[in-house]
Amino acid sequence: MTHFEKAPAKINLSLDVLGKRNDGYHDVEMIMTTVDLADRIELNTIQEDRIEVSLWSRYVPNDERNLAYKAAKAFKTKYNITKGVHIKIEKVIPVSAGLGGGSTDAAAVLRGLNKLWKMNIPTAELAALGATLGSDIPFCVYGSTGMAKGYGEIIEPLPSPPPFWVILAKPDIGVSTRTVFQRVKMDEIIHPNTEGVVQALYNKNFAMLCEMIGNALEPITISLHPEVQRIKEKMMLAGARGVLMSGSGPTVYGLVEQETKAQRIYNSMKGFCEEVYLVRLIG
Ligand code: ATP
Repeated sequence: MTHFEKAPAKINLSLDVLGKRNDGYHDVEMIMTTVDLADRIELNTIQEDRIEVSLWSRYVPNDERNLAYKAAKAFKTKYNITKGVHIKIEKVIPVSAGLGGGSTDAAAVLRGLNKLWKMNIPTAELAALGATLGSDIPFCVYGSTGMAKGYGEIIEPLPSPPPFWVILAKPDIGVSTRTVFQRVKMDEIIHPNTEGVVQALYNKNFAMLCEMIGNALEPITISLHPEVQRIKEKMMLAGARGVLMSGSGPTVYGLVEQETKAQRIYNSMKGFCEEVYLVRLIG
């Protein structure tokens, strides 16, 4: 039996850090939406009780450290499944980029195994299982557009933005989310206007959305990697309206309404930055 599952990247329309918890995690409030840049996951049942991962990537391990492997393991354990699975990952999303690449692969494995093995497990239960593996996984299980709270395990759906164009620009560096969170000082956090982003989504108001987006981790990543600031400035100069770093970075995105303008900005970013993508919101 074979099942294919798309694993799309996410961007943060907002990311706020509300406080540090006793367990070492931070309480966050993040509004995320989905873009049409996706890894492709192929799942094949194998009769032996084993999980195999195959992928070609310099940056991602193909063993039990892979989040897709961990997701399959958690799924099999929780539901006492004794057959195995071969997971083939076609990696398209840049790694350690702030686009949730590993989380979306793990989420796609949970959704995919649910279908492959006809388990009929409700999405909320899959998301709760995902939360045991990583804080962006519950959102990725649902996809679309939503607010994640707690350490990421509480998901509230939000209206999807119209299919605006998105330019993604990633410098040739990877950022560890853990390193960035370790540098959070709560008294220095600049809180984004999360409610403003929510309102902009309900109003489907592009100008308002561009004005309201914000990321409390951006100054921290910029202090470690000043090129993120230079990419932001270049993208704004090129004409993008809503320009923000996604997640813990380093990918910067710019929102654009018109295709021709988006294409122009994409072209001018290409000579400036290692990896540039022109995609659409599909939230
Ligand atoms: P986030 O925005 O959720 O913080 P990210 O996009 O910054 O995530 P990832 O691409 O998920 O970061 O990679 C983070 C780390 O996870 C890397 O060190 C990578 O090797 C590891 N990893 C494990 N499994 C995967 C996977 N299937 N895809 C990508 N990275 C993976």
